[in-house]
Amino acid sequence: MTDETAKIRLFVEAPLAAGAGVPLTKEQAHYLFAVMRLGPGGRVALFNGRDGEWQAEVLEAGKRGGTLGCLAQSAPQGLPPDLWLLFAPIKKARTDFIVEKATELGVRRILPVFTRYTNSERLRPDRLQAHCTEAAEQCGGTFVPELAEPAPLERVLAGWDPARALVFCDESRDARPLHAVAPPAPAALLIGPEGGFSPEEAARLRALPFVVPVSLGPRILRADTAAAAAIALWQARRGDWGGPEGAAP
Ligand code: SAH
Repeated sequence: MTDETAKIRLFVEAPLAAGAGVPLTKEQAHYLFAVMRLGPGGRVALFNGRDGEWQAEVLEAGKRGGTLGCLAQSAPQGLPPDLWLLFAPIKKARTDFIVEKATELGVRRILPVFTRYTNSERLRPDRLQAHCTEAAEQCGGTFVPELAEPAPLERVLAGWDPARALVFCDESRDARPLHAVAPPAPAALLIGPEGGFSPEEAARLRALPFVVPVSLGPRILRADTAAAAAIALWQARRGDWGGPEGAAP
């Protein structure tokens, strides 16, 4: 292989350091050796969300497992701006989409919240966390956002740190556009369910001192569209995309 930098990126739990051996699960072994046809000496880029990205080589390849050996760090550990996404779970496929886009666009934490009109769809945090790691593998990131335990919005608000602005995306659109009022980090974005926020919830949110109501334009967006749009607008204005206030990437 002429280019020694691995094309395959893999999220692992194990610590990564020079010379470290990384054991593979059955699924990881199947993916590397059966699907990607790697063998001993083959290269893989590894990350675990803590130690940056490491080039590794296949030391042992088996049907039910294997071992990789870390060679050298190929990227430092990244850290997205201190932006959280709070969203009310919607239909499964669209919730998966929200979590995947939030990881690609760059958030530090994802917190599913139950609101008055939230579908009662049961959430699978382990499956959602897998969407985060798969999105990070694909987008070249080294950071994997924490997927917090789902919680009722009321409880989240009761324990809120007022130093973190809560950007309330209000479908009534009776607010200034997000990009005009985007508060700097630490910040959080709040997206409601398909049914929107109840009048009581909207009034409760608007009465809180740390809440910044915003509009996402003149049209009603689906929750998954709204989540992606809100993160993009905040990132472009205050994040690590190199905007006027954005930190250099
Ligand atoms: N069914 C509701 C809309 C819910 S849209 C209705 O017809 O009123 C789902 C969520 O996306 C909303 O709760 C809000 O958080 C966000 N959203 C959608 N469009 C928006 C807009 N134009 N401005 C601000 N937030 C919006």
